[in-house]
Amino acid sequence: MTGDADEHAFENVRKLISGVCERMGLPEMCRVRLMECERELIVHFPVKMDDGTVKVFTGFRVVHNDSRGPSKGGIRYHPDANLDKVRALAALMTLKTAVAGIPYGGAKGAVVCDPKTMSLSELERLTRRYASDIAILIGPDSDIPAPDVGTNPQVMAWIMDTYSMGKGYSVPAVVTGKPLEIGGSSGRFEATGRGCMVSALLAAKHLGIESQGATVAVQGCGNVGGTVADLLSKEGCRVIAISDINGGSYSSEGLNVEGVLSHVKDTGSVVGSANAEAITNAELLEMKCDILVVAAIEEVLIEANAPSIKAKIIVEGANGPTTPEAHKILVDRGIFVAPDILANAGGVIVSYLEWVQGLQSFYWDETQVNNYLGRLMTNAFNHVLSISECERVDMRTAAYMTALKQLATAMAIRGIFP
Ligand code: NAD
Repeated sequence: MTGDADEHAFENVRKLISGVCERMGLPEMCRVRLMECERELIVHFPVKMDDGTVKVFTGFRVVHNDSRGPSKGGIRYHPDANLDKVRALAALMTLKTAVAGIPYGGAKGAVVCDPKTMSLSELERLTRRYASDIAILIGPDSDIPAPDVGTNPQVMAWIMDTYSMGKGYSVPAVVTGKPLEIGGSSGRFEATGRGCMVSALLAAKHLGIESQGATVAVQGCGNVGGTVADLLSKEGCRVIAISDINGGSYSSEGLNVEGVLSHVKDTGSVVGSANAEAITNAELLEMKCDILVVAAIEEVLIEANAPSIKAKIIVEGANGPTTPEAHKILVDRGIFVAPDILANAGGVIVSYLEWVQGLQSFYWDETQVNNYLGRLMTNAFNHVLSISECERVDMRTAAYMTALKQLATAMAIRGIFP
């Protein structure tokens, strides 16, 4: 599977980049370069399965652009992964690192697999072989992976170890999102959710919505969704609904988020949480609430449900959760959308801090990390908001304008080789 079917994710990002470049009158050299990914690697590799058979898996690593620094982006293990999605996600990383103002380019990787059906040792063998096959691209100075859907700190540890074995010495800065014991950063695990929480509170403040008691619905209860639900409830918001792939839980009084999270830990799902009614994902998305956080997968807000969304604020914890058609409807209806490349930048910001700490072998405590994250997220949000107000554009266009200005400047200063 290489993404030939139904390819549109990268095209959607390209159209947005192209439109904003033209609107800003940026040099054509910048626009055309961003229309393509700089490097694309497809690997088909064998893995010995526990039952003695050999299975061939397909993986990708795509570098979209490295004008502003080494490329950075997660690795996804998912049955629906394909080249088109990886290209789109890599391009979003180029924009995200530029909006956040950190000195990185954008990349993404994936393996077409279902990690839920694989044993730990199968996952380790798959990860080590994939890491070895993409070692021609990754490195602490060139391209630095991190976790994404279906991968976690343990997978990063295997990649770090495999890469280090090839070099003959430990290279902690080759990946971020590692376990703390081998050079991970305090606060990295919660960083994306924390950044979403900062975005949600800043958006509420901007719209004059009191955060104490503000109603919140969260789609997705993994790393991002679970963390943002927990942090917003600790900030005094009333989290009335949370869902995952199996369905959702709702309480008009507000869910006991810690209880829901421990139910997820025990049972693997939010479904059946105590003192809550069962709801579907479709019902959660269309629920009346102040803040809707979409933190599961791409393309959940679509043309069909956009007219029925009742939230005042949408925070895109996931990458690409809103189709362009849905975005237009939501913005026309006056809904404030904090776009993915801004709202979920907390993870890559703390990944940057982890990389810097790894390179210097000097580690910070969680308070230092969270303060730095809060400062960068607040600066980025306020900058994008000011562009949105000055230029009278929605927040997504303003975020793209912010990113593309940075990228055009970097490309102009560097020039073109040879
Ligand atoms: P995760 O695997 O930890 O959690 C995903 C959650 O979404 C799970 O609760 C899962 O059950 C739910 N889900 C999956 N498919 C669903 C569906 N069809 N309907 C409803 N719920 C569904 O993943 P994560 O790390 O929390 O990532 C979530 C999103 O955030 C992804 O789009 C990812 O690219 C994006 N993101 C993650 C990070 C990070 O640091 N983890 C950073 C930036 C962006």
